[in-house]
Amino acid sequence: MNQQADSDKAARAPGTPRRIPAPRVLPESLPFWEAANEGRLLVKKCAACGEFHHYPRDICPHCLSADTAWVQAAGTGTVYSFSTMGKGEAACTLAFVTLDEGVTLLTNLVDCDPANVGIGQRVRVSFKPSDGEYAVPMFTPA
Ligand SMILES: [Zn+2]
Repeated sequence: MNQQADSDKAARAPGTPRRIPAPRVLPESLPFWEAANEGRLLVKKCAACGEFHHYPRDICPHCLSADTAWVQAAGTGTVYSFSTMGKGEAACTLAFVTLDEGVTLLTNLVDCDPANVGIGQRVRVSFKPSDGEYAVPMFTPA
């Protein structure tokens, strides 16, 4: 680890030792990231078939309708699966979280000991600053 990274680590609040890379923001997902900076989790809902979908797309993956709209998710869900990688402060826990709206996000579990997390754990969204312009939605035990 270089000098710069060490000083960055010292400046960060406890519990958030890991740098979060800037998300890759595509035009069709821009509202998702702008809302994330406001602490709101958006998902896309199709007006034609009524299904939610994620990752955000202009065209509904269920029925191919272009009649999709952003709606605010409750920000709560359950852990579908998870895996911890790395050790110590470099460790991160990747997880699939199924939102109460029914869509599944590839995300991270944060601010918890993964040893105490199980499949089906109730979680809620927590927005974490990234190295880029936008905060990234992650999840913590509810
Ligand atoms: Zn649809």
